[in-house]
Amino acid sequence: MNVKKKRDPRSGWCALVGAGPGDPDLLTLQALRTLRHATLLLVDDLVGDAVLDLALRRRNPEHVPRVVHVGKRGGCQSTPQDFIERLMVQSALAGERVVRLKGGDPFVFGRGGEEAQVLRAAGVDVRVVHGLTSGLVAASALGVPWTHREHAHGVMLVTGHAKEGATGPDWAVLGAAAAQGLTLIIYMGMARLTALQAGLLKALPPATPAAIVQAAGTAQEKLCLCRLVTLSSEARLHGMTSPAIILIGDVLRARTALQQGPPSPCLRSAATRIA
Ligand code: SAH
Repeated sequence: MNVKKKRDPRSGWCALVGAGPGDPDLLTLQALRTLRHATLLLVDDLVGDAVLDLALRRRNPEHVPRVVHVGKRGGCQSTPQDFIERLMVQSALAGERVVRLKGGDPFVFGRGGEEAQVLRAAGVDVRVVHGLTSGLVAASALGVPWTHREHAHGVMLVTGHAKEGATGPDWAVLGAAAAQGLTLIIYMGMARLTALQAGLLKALPPATPAAIVQAAGTAQEKLCLCRLVTLSSEARLHGMTSPAIILIGDVLRARTALQQGPPSPCLRSAATRIA
């Protein structure tokens, strides 16, 4: 029998909550409920202001949680990871209901896995509340089904940013996998666009469809659809910057079927070239 242990309502906990891409409509109900109970919010850079406003809304102003921004907002240096982890552990053990609010999903390139391990090892009651990851929101902005059966049989979520001291991904190898019908969804790739393009071109045809979605799911969303061979030049031309998702693969050919609303001029001109 699976008997759920009753929690002591006075004891602290820490929840790693995915804020999704920025639009509060895309928060899960579980995220909203968890935010409503928080006494302390540790907020990442990529969390949208509208989500934060919602997280702070309380009937009783005395119940508004304290907020600590732990990203690079306002040009500040990013808060060191071990400081964030110590703050989460100490606050939860002191009885705070801590929400670590992260952009997208906390377990997709968000260090959520490392944080959950640290919290658990310290004896903190940890919860994970998933959110919509930006890679999925980016595909949706393009009207692309990640795994449309006529074009792809899987997806690879890859980071373009290697851990300090580690070598980055082997783009030629990933390109070879993509050539077998796997859609490539690249996070944190904008700083290494030229290198990743060159590596992928060793295994994929120059005409492979490619796209960049900047600030997916926010009011600043910007789309660029092109070919692998023109990826970095188109990105420069249209001033595409982080945060952005890069999508590579034949599945981008399936986008016109689902796309809603008028495309941006950059997308429109590229789309005519791709069709
Ligand atoms: N946990 C996050 C990813 C954090 S890693 C998630 O699930 O989405 C940070 C990277 O995510 C950024 O460099 C960028 O590649 C991507 N990213 C985050 N928010 C984004 C957004 N709104 N639009 C496009 N890319 C985004």
